[in-house]
Amino acid sequence: MAETLKITNLHVSVEGKPILRGVNLTINRGEIHALMGPNGSGKSTLGNAIMGHPNYEVTEGSITLNGEDVLAMDASERARGGIFMAFQRPMSVPGVKMADFLRHATTNVRNPRRKEGEELIPMRQFRKELTEKMDQLKMDVEFARRYVNDGFSGGEMKRAEILQLAMLRPKFAILDETDSGLDVDAVKLASQSIAEIGGSEMGILIITHHDKLLDYNTPDFTHVMLGGRIVETGGVELARELYTEGYDRIRAAYPEAAAVDAEMQQSTAAAV
Ligand code: ADP
Ligand code: MG
Repeated sequence: MAETLKITNLHVSVEGKPILRGVNLTINRGEIHALMGPNGSGKSTLGNAIMGHPNYEVTEGSITLNGEDVLAMDASERARGGIFMAFQRPMSVPGVKMADFLRHATTNVRNPRRKEGEELIPMRQFRKELTEKMDQLKMDVEFARRYVNDGFSGGEMKRAEILQLAMLRPKFAILDETDSGLDVDAVKLASQSIAEIGGSEMGILIITHHDKLLDYNTPDFTHVMLGGRIVETGGVELARELYTEGYDRIRAAYPEAAAVDAEMQQSTAAAV
């Protein structure tokens, strides 16, 4: 049986404010899904809710991983269970080197029953693997000695996330705007790297506004989010359409969701 991440009628509030209003999405391992939609429609909120970010309160619906209740797991259990998210705005961790961070994270994901203080992956084995992956991603080994995301450029942050993806090899990966802030060549490299790492082993949800990231990662499904719901699902042609034409057709076709979206935009503007 295919391994599956299943989201059913998901409602999520942030600070008491409803954002997601009934999201349904099923991702099988080996599939690539693109998630598109205007700014503020709830895409990052979906990713954060799947990862178990404490500020994102699930008020209704379910998330399951191979039938197991993901909502009953805390964030680290979800990561150990094989769910990974590359954040739109990753946190920096001054004082913690990339290599040490990756060694801990990789050990924890590979050995989910490991207790704090138990053995990490042996240093030699880890170094060998890390060097191989960095070679594959055309990254300078110096990079691993820097503090996590500390003073990283936009491009370096995204590449650090892709390196995590390569080392952790999750079952399901959510990539939130891995292309934002990157120039065309960097997006191309990111796209190629994700395709190399992903393969048939991973279920991937790519949140993106651009079609370049999809060049090497042709989505099996494209979903459009508007007003906190997925209003339409299609193939790769839908991603191309939205990229070139924008969301006018979508807003016209789903007036109810468009009204919610307009309201969400207003409250966002008021909050800023
Ligand atoms: P997208 O990723 O599609 O641009 P988001 O999921 O980031 O949209 O945001 C959807 C809505 O939820 C916006 O109105 C945004 O202001 C609100 N929101 C998301 N995260 C937070 C948060 N941590 N605190 C307050 N509001 C939030
Ligand atoms: Mg976002």
